[in-house]
Amino acid sequence: MVIKHCPTCDRTSDKVRFIGEFCEVCVTGRLKKEVPDKATIERCKSCERIRTPKGYAAPDRNTLKEALQQQIGKRFSITVVRYDWKGADVRLSCDVEGNKAEFEKRIGLDVKRTMCIDCYRRTSGYYEAIFQLRGHRDAAERMMKKFVNFIETRGSFISRLDELDGGYDIYTSDKKVASAFFDYYGLKPKRSYTLYGLQRGRKVYRNTYMLRLTS
Ligand SMILES: [Zn+2]
Ligand SMILES: [Zn+2]
Repeated sequence: MVIKHCPTCDRTSDKVRFIGEFCEVCVTGRLKKEVPDKATIERCKSCERIRTPKGYAAPDRNTLKEALQQQIGKRFSITVVRYDWKGADVRLSCDVEGNKAEFEKRIGLDVKRTMCIDCYRRTSGYYEAIFQLRGHRDAAERMMKKFVNFIETRGSFISRLDELDGGYDIYTSDKKVASAFFDYYGLKPKRSYTLYGLQRGRKVYRNTYMLRLTS
């Protein structure tokens, strides 16, 4: 076997692995410099989730990987080994002329405090639908609780809840989820729509669901 000498550092192929004409130490050293030392992570100051290309998500090694991958580029595939909010120890690998090069690097994290769209909507009282629930006290209360639970376990929220003499007005953030509630329980509320604005040139309606309980 011919022993290779690395042109940069003179290490020999009987001592270290070679990737092409250069030793692994020099190859990974060079690659390491191509990876940014710092990355910016946007983290919601209200729910603590981080921004990934797929939207805000709870921080863990996988979601952080997604957030970092975007900034590091497609050339490297990455695994987050461990992290804190100052930095992440990342294992990176990439292809160099048909050989796999692998190395670790610590990437500093610059955490930018933001507010995600969900939290923004929550704090601004955003709503897309009003459920006007009418009926006798106990029945109305049971139905109200069922509705609130349905909404909250499906990732949307109640922006406002008014208790009235004859029932409740419940304002909620997602009309699709609200509508799903009525389908799910086979309820037939009276539906009406109010135009409340334009979004990217399309008319946006708020839905009102009026339901009178008979028992
Ligand atoms: Zn070398
Ligand atoms: Zn948030």
